[in-house]
Amino acid sequence: MKNLLGSSLKDLENVALNYGQASFRGRQIHNWIYDYKNKKKDIDQINVLPLVFRKKLIQEGFKINELTLQERSLAEDGTLKLLLNTYDNESIECVGIPTEKRLTACLSSQIGCPMDCKFCATGKEGLKRSLKTSEIIDQILFIEHEMNRRVTNIVFMGMGEPLLNIDELLLSIRSINEDFEISQRKITVSTVAIPKLIDKLSEKSFLILGKCQFTLAISLHASNQIIREMIIPSAKNYNIENIIKDCKRFVKKTGRRVSFEYLMLNGLNDKVEHAEELSSLLKGFQCHVNLIQYNKVSEVEFNQTSLKNLRIFQTRLLNNGIAVSFRQSRGSDKNAACGQLRQNTNLYK
Ligand code: SF4
Repeated sequence: MKNLLGSSLKDLENVALNYGQASFRGRQIHNWIYDYKNKKKDIDQINVLPLVFRKKLIQEGFKINELTLQERSLAEDGTLKLLLNTYDNESIECVGIPTEKRLTACLSSQIGCPMDCKFCATGKEGLKRSLKTSEIIDQILFIEHEMNRRVTNIVFMGMGEPLLNIDELLLSIRSINEDFEISQRKITVSTVAIPKLIDKLSEKSFLILGKCQFTLAISLHASNQIIREMIIPSAKNYNIENIIKDCKRFVKKTGRRVSFEYLMLNGLNDKVEHAEELSSLLKGFQCHVNLIQYNKVSEVEFNQTSLKNLRIFQTRLLNNGIAVSFRQSRGSDKNAACGQLRQNTNLYK
């Protein structure tokens, strides 16, 4: 099956030309497949196209739908989590996080995840496989369709480690940027950091997209190597100092500041001494720290830092000249918050 989701206007015009149609038929397909109001998507339903062309596309194995909706779960704050089925009977989750002006889509890049971060539900189930571009793009269309509005911002913070699926990630960013008209600056790619892949991300982005303007968010979660290895097993292969060096190079190459995600874990990484250590690590560096409150995952022992301690930590970073903000968790009553996404449908409701 050749899925047209994630195809550019040019690609679709070429498909039309290849089947003896005028190139504007490609634009008609483009308009149709990226219009979130058109669900359930089926080539047969693109009735602006000649019947004979539609039949030819179906016969040649083209399709424009990828995922199917299994469950939807609406949190009290309006955050919507969707459980979607893939063609091979696996499932993934994505989340729509609305505010008055924005709709942020939190997307998955893999089915499961091999990184096994200790605070994360996704990592408990290992990796099944990476997602194709069409499967990443269909998540956006599902969120838009179910929430009846356009997505304005994208974060790759759902299931999976995006840098282990770098080609499909960048092809998705192309589509998000050009087909959904969402600027790269409104896209965030979050990673636990894997040796050599921060460099590869910027290099490939320049090569494939001609620019690298999305935000790189590193899931740091620790102020030193020892604590980091306790939380993120894969950290033993990548020293925290080397991560910072590679991030500095990323900033130099792209002109974009790096964001550091810091999950506050009670008694483990949330003391004033950790704030001081983190300040020294990030000093003189164009970056931003995002403090995140831990969201409970049933099989994990960590506890949430109190709001008071979080504010003390934040103030200490600020006083040390580090740009810092506190990200409020959204959708935690429906397990839709950071680190809570998973495949296990028994635990879904
Ligand atoms: S936090 Fe991200 S990288 Fe770590 S296990 Fe979860 S999904 Fe994978």
